[in-house]
Amino acid sequence: MTETYDVAIIGYGPAGAALANLLERQGRRVLVLEQFPQSYPLPRATHIDGEAMRVLQSAGIGDVLASQLGIYARMRFEDKDGRMLIDWPRPITPGIHGWRDSNRFHQPDLEHALQTRIAGSSLVTVQRGLRLTGLDQDEHAVTLVAQTEAGEPWQARARYVVGCDGANSTVRALIGAELTILAPSQQWLVADFILNPGAPELPEGTVQYCDPARPFTYIEGAGRRRRWEVMLLPGDDPATFALPDQVYPLLKRWISPEHVTLERAVVYVFRSAIASHWRDGRVMIAGDAAHQTPPFLGQGLCAGLRDVINLAWKIDLALSGAADPGLLDSYHQELAPHVTQYIAEANRIGGFIAETDPDKAQARDAMLLSSPQVMTPIRPRLGGALWGQSANPLAGTLAAQPILPGDKRMDDVVGLHFAVLVITGFAAGFSPATHDRLRVAGAVLLEGDADDYLATLGAAVLIIRPDHYIFGTASTLAEAEALITALPVITGQHDG
Ligand SMILES: Cc1cc2nc3c(=O)[nH]c(=O)nc-3n(C[C@H](O)[C@H](O)[C@H](O)COP(=O)(O)OP(=O)(O)OC[C@H]3O[C@@H](n4cnc5c(N)ncnc54)[C@H](O)[C@@H]3O)c2cc1C
Repeated sequence: MTETYDVAIIGYGPAGAALANLLERQGRRVLVLEQFPQSYPLPRATHIDGEAMRVLQSAGIGDVLASQLGIYARMRFEDKDGRMLIDWPRPITPGIHGWRDSNRFHQPDLEHALQTRIAGSSLVTVQRGLRLTGLDQDEHAVTLVAQTEAGEPWQARARYVVGCDGANSTVRALIGAELTILAPSQQWLVADFILNPGAPELPEGTVQYCDPARPFTYIEGAGRRRRWEVMLLPGDDPATFALPDQVYPLLKRWISPEHVTLERAVVYVFRSAIASHWRDGRVMIAGDAAHQTPPFLGQGLCAGLRDVINLAWKIDLALSGAADPGLLDSYHQELAPHVTQYIAEANRIGGFIAETDPDKAQARDAMLLSSPQVMTPIRPRLGGALWGQSANPLAGTLAAQPILPGDKRMDDVVGLHFAVLVITGFAAGFSPATHDRLRVAGAVLLEGDADDYLATLGAAVLIIRPDHYIFGTASTLAEAEALITALPVITGQHDG
């Protein structure tokens, strides 16, 4: 009889590869199907935030990637005359999450690190050259139907399936989810270069050139990589716009061919869309399969990493029988409103950049120049019912990552488990039933290890979910026991 995998992941892009690593760290047997024989080698994402780095730390590649990150100093918005409209400086030292809030990176480096870690694991089987075409689920598992490159049929079974199969997701279509368009799409040229020795000095960070005659974005990538994004205007021909003899004249105020090596230039359609549902029984979608955002905030890949860590702990509890599979409904409830806020924010700042009406652009400039504008990142709260903790403003927000005794980062100590931080001496009052519930949830109890952090929150107890979001806080023993009772686990028999 063929093996039934715990989880099959469709698509070996960053979302799929991160999920494979997270599940592998939980001891799950995973199958990954990828249609292409090789990874996509060219740059896409150039910015990764501190929360996403923390997910990659949990996936086991934080330190590998750390050496490849660059400082992302700021994003500046300029009017057509070079006057600063908005400044968005970023801290250059790690924040409370243990990572810098903004980092420059090269997406193929990230995918390579994730895939290299998996290559050493006996728990994960990666099958390239297989295109998923069908899914058939019953009460026990899902049968996956795929096609080899030669057109041969291929089948496998898995208890859960996650479609990380990108913007044109087959899995999304197979679960009957519709894409809701959140804002009109835009066409932009994306041109990636590597600076040659002797290249002229270029700006630090990202500059949004808000010129109504032709909006541009300049991005300082990792190492010597530099990107320009150029908005297409009515009358521009997307079929020829990315040809080198068109690209260089567009960028002549910054570079000429002797300064740079063109890595690729392509016209992308920047989309804003979200799938109507992200789960059908044993099948889920994540990453670009579930949502797409224009890259003005550098959040598409970050949002996909947020999806997969949210799914990883919930699937693990459902597989072990520690939680009802209904727990998986909270995935869409929590993250759909969350990512929708990021997409709205990307479109808000995209609206400043992409204004081509000279009068409206002038009004925008006057408004922004009249008082200094400094942007800060949004930090949305998770949606959903949050297990009755919604009235607690901390629940559903991102927790800090304290440094624990022995100079250890909390996430490294806790792994993909609930962290229960309690002030010194507090856990002695917990009842046996409370301890049993913590055991079933696989929670790691840390007593007296982060008293300073708890003091800043005004709490005696803090429960942090495996995806680094706050489950809830408590000040008294009764509140703490009620909080632990609310953990989404069922005590009793489990099938491991
Ligand atoms: C120009 C640009 C700039 C960007 N900048 C940023 C940024 O700065 N920061 C950021 O966070 N994000 C950014 N993004 C977004 C980011 O690149 C994407 O969100 C990310 O690559 C999506 O990852 P994914 O794993 O969901 O999908 P993908 O990377 O698209 O991977 C999907 C995989 O599924 C495979 N697949 C598809 N269908 C099947 C099938 N039927 N069977 C088997 N395999 C299948 C595909 O071959 C592919 O390998 C940018 C994107 C672009 C285009």
